Amino acid sequence: MGVTLAKIRQNLVLHGTVANKGIAFGKLSFVKRADIGHEKKEIKNTKAECARFEKARLHAITQLGALYDASLEKLGEQNAVVFQIHQMMLEDPDYVSSIKDVITKEHSNAEYAVTVVAQKFEKQFLEMDNDYMRGRAADIVDISRRINEILMMHDGILNNKGISYNHEGSVVLAADDLVPSETVQLDQKAVAGIVTSKGSNRSHTAIFARTMGIPTIVCVGDSLTEDLEGHFVIVDGNSGRIYVDPDNETIERFSEIKKTDDVQNSHLEEFRGKPTLTRSGNKINLFANSGSLADLELIKASDAEGIGLFRSEYIFMQASDYPTEEEQYEIYKKVLETMGDKKVIIRTLDIGADKTAEYFMLKQEQNPAMGLRAVRLCLANRALFKTQLRALYRASAFGNLSIMIPMITSVDEVIETKQIIREIKRELDEQELQYKDDVEFGIMIETPAAAIISDELAQHVDFFSIGTNDLTQFTLAVDRQNADLENYLNPYHHAVVKLIENTIINGHLAGIWVGICGELASDEKFLGKLIQLGVDEMSVVPSSVLSLRAKIATLG
Ligand code: PEP
Ligand code: MG
Repeated sequence: MGVTLAKIRQNLVLHGTVANKGIAFGKLSFVKRADIGHEKKEIKNTKAECARFEKARLHAITQLGALYDASLEKLGEQNAVVFQIHQMMLEDPDYVSSIKDVITKEHSNAEYAVTVVAQKFEKQFLEMDNDYMRGRAADIVDISRRINEILMMHDGILNNKGISYNHEGSVVLAADDLVPSETVQLDQKAVAGIVTSKGSNRSHTAIFARTMGIPTIVCVGDSLTEDLEGHFVIVDGNSGRIYVDPDNETIERFSEIKKTDDVQNSHLEEFRGKPTLTRSGNKINLFANSGSLADLELIKASDAEGIGLFRSEYIFMQASDYPTEEEQYEIYKKVLETMGDKKVIIRTLDIGADKTAEYFMLKQEQNPAMGLRAVRLCLANRALFKTQLRALYRASAFGNLSIMIPMITSVDEVIETKQIIREIKRELDEQELQYKDDVEFGIMIETPAAAIISDELAQHVDFFSIGTNDLTQFTLAVDRQNADLENYLNPYHHAVVKLIENTIINGHLAGIWVGICGELASDEKFLGKLIQLGVDEMSVVPSSVLSLRAKIATLG
């Protein structure tokens, strides 16, 4: 029996979601937290209890200011900013009044009120159907815990705040979840890896882990049990596996992989802040793809030279109703301001097919990928298109904006869109609203039709960006959503490559630049071909920027 259990233990492999790549070795150490008492106590003087809460809240805001300053140096502005966000959350009237309401109506102590309100808000965030907002649940827990710790400190009950864990040797930290202020306190030298049973790879904790370069796996589930404390593990942040008490053969295998990774990664840092040049000195613009404001931190940390594809439909997918011109304007402005003088290519709405939002009430279609989507939908619904284009043009005054139109199949669509843009400019002039007159205007080449007539299209636009995901789907007649057809969805297919080549040649003949923003741009195996074809810009997943810049330096 004992032998069997030992054997099972030795073969135990846990699975989770990769939040940061890399290999880590160490002993599992579960995070221990100070016990925060939050049982309900009856309070007679609720006014005094509200004042007690208020004092702790203000103390928390000051503490967060100090934490922000300390993190600035360690993690940079883009990561430290979460503590400013926490300060704002602590100022949120809804959050503050909900706590005071519980104190007053239930005659309860502040600790209890903070805890129940935190649970309510956490639940609301976790139920949202977008990763970014779900990630905010950890922030609510974090600020509420901070207030409770301070309340207990003020009462002299707690003086040792924060988390503790076993620091001996190399540690793989384990927890149900970590909150940002816990992650930032970690000793980077001691913590080799992080594994959590819950969490999200979009949370600030995951972003911090990435910035700090700690291999991290989240969402491991219930199999990450505390009886594994002290067991030796290998965290494989490439596959999302955690090997518990691995055998010698597995240890050797991962030691070799780690050695190769370490050499490669230290080498990659040399490319940070440098331009992307081929071996013969040709400049390539190496940009990153983005879906929302939440990705901006990652993009800044990735050292991308701009945003080559901002998928604006994500804004619509995250909303419960059509985002107004003002709402969109604020988002685009924020993106542009954050990126400074770097180019930001915002793609107009590409809703339809797999990307939908209920309030659009799109008709059921037999083949939605080939249906009323993207630019077709926008041209059929002028008000929708005009609202977005107005927001984009107004935001253009705040940075280096380019606008890109998806799913183009004809010259007429381009001409019609440009006509709408002229109308918008006239309106903005009349209203004396600022915008940049020379916003670059480009289109995606992601249908075979567009690639074939790219010579004609090039006469009407400033740039092309090749969307190889859809170009592959439509050229090969293979549904990109159908996992059973994976082997058929071959972006290296000669037909796809020929269309890419045709587009680049026609773009260059017309004197415009040609980029690529589909997944194929991040594929190192195809990089040599792209350089050979003379692509000018590549927009890739943020985590690939440095490795691609290093690879490009060896090519062409
Ligand atoms: C593409 O089709 O290659 C592309 C970048 O657009 P999306 O993946 O958003 O359809
Ligand atoms: Mg596409």
